[in-house]
Amino acid sequence: MCGIVGIVDAGGVSFPLYYALYALQHRGQESAGISTFEGATLYTHKAQGLVAEVFNSHTLQELRGTVGIGHVRYPTTGSKVPENVQPFNFRYQGLNLSIAHNGNLVNTAELREEYERRGQIFCTTTDTEIIGNIIADALRTSKSMEDAVRFCMRRLRGSYSVVALLNDTVYAFRDPLGIKPLCIGGIDQGYIVASESVAVDALDGTFIRDVRPGELVRIDESGLSSIQIATANRTARCIFEYIYFARADSVIDGTLVYDVRRRIGQKLYDANPIEADTACPVPDSGIAYAAGYAERSGVPFVEGLMKNRYMGRTFIMPTQQQRERAVRIKLNTVRGNLKDKRVVLVDDSIVRGTTSRRIVTMIRDAGAAEIHLRVGSPPIVAPCYLGVDMPTRAELVASGRDTEAVRESIGATSLTYIPLEDLVEAIGCGEQNLCTGCLTGCYPVDIPGEKSCHCVVDYVAGTRQSDLSTFRAGKEQS
Ligand code: AMP
Repeated sequence: MCGIVGIVDAGGVSFPLYYALYALQHRGQESAGISTFEGATLYTHKAQGLVAEVFNSHTLQELRGTVGIGHVRYPTTGSKVPENVQPFNFRYQGLNLSIAHNGNLVNTAELREEYERRGQIFCTTTDTEIIGNIIADALRTSKSMEDAVRFCMRRLRGSYSVVALLNDTVYAFRDPLGIKPLCIGGIDQGYIVASESVAVDALDGTFIRDVRPGELVRIDESGLSSIQIATANRTARCIFEYIYFARADSVIDGTLVYDVRRRIGQKLYDANPIEADTACPVPDSGIAYAAGYAERSGVPFVEGLMKNRYMGRTFIMPTQQQRERAVRIKLNTVRGNLKDKRVVLVDDSIVRGTTSRRIVTMIRDAGAAEIHLRVGSPPIVAPCYLGVDMPTRAELVASGRDTEAVRESIGATSLTYIPLEDLVEAIGCGEQNLCTGCLTGCYPVDIPGEKSCHCVVDYVAGTRQSDLSTFRAGKEQS
């Protein structure tokens, strides 16, 4: 999982890209990078670390130009190496291509093998480099980015929201099933495309719309236009964006994430009403869920856990003992709000179960009389192949265990998950438009050894359309 952004703004882009990446920091903390273009030069600065650690005013001033893209990367096992930090650059006969990607391809190995056989040399272990190579290779013959992306999309299987900078033009495209989010906003003197609408808000911009699944958007100094490259018989939006990944203040494909989580909280009470003294969120992701639960049940919303917001990444601690201490610093109990109380503890999801087990133990140690764990997702029973860093079946606590066995392993007084139908209803777009792979083991793309709920994708000869007039007219009126 990663965050991506592309900006064209006559006033310069490095600082707006920086602020947008800051707003998307929750989508990836392992590394950050920005590429911009001016004159005939592609400028890139990227490194491992948080956005605020990677950039300073000097590095941002060096990133010249009025067009650029940015990326924040989520740590995935085995690949935390400097060469995998995005954006990736490709230079060929006066063309400068820089590319950043959110998602995960499922045919990486076969594409890589094919391109290696043709003499291509890869410098990283990412699927993003393959996307860049396919586009760069296609540009050699056609010189048209639209043709290159059209060719590329036909080759890719999996999830991809991509931003690319080709000299002075920003391109953005989304896979035909719209698995990962991507939206468009209007800003002061140009446009932004970003993984989540919070990046548009951060620049005081105006949300225009989501990039359509299968659409290619082109932005340069003359404005924005788009072309539909692929259509499908359904979408497959990642359900985990709504459950955990996206920021609650983002609007994804027309739905405010906070509202989804609040509705789930309400449904958690309806599905299993019990008497309790406090509805306590697991911070921060459980807050909207607990708000909905408290609203529906009348059980007061009381915080029993406090998170230290200034805690850095725990993986940099060198020893196990230091890492364990870091966890204690990260989360602490508010004893007075828990002692002798019947606590409804509301969280977004249980993955391995280690977090819930530790939190339940802390709350019990703080003197709670009962701990009723309510979870905003159904049991996670299968891995994600499409971009969420989800462990294997063997590591998933709910895989092969019933709810009672999970409850026992976590040590809660009671445990209930939201039923899938309720979750789908809370999101509102219908199960046929969601990827529920981690909850059902049935995936929207073919994955060897897994069940697939076949989606039909057509590649169409779309004509280019311009949305510019609509946005500008709206802006002038307001
Ligand atoms: P655990 O059950 O210990 O694996 O942790 C689950 C908690 O981690 C959830 O309540 C989420 O807040 C958070 N979480 C869920 N999925 C992920 C993920 N893919 N990466 C990082 N944190 C996650």
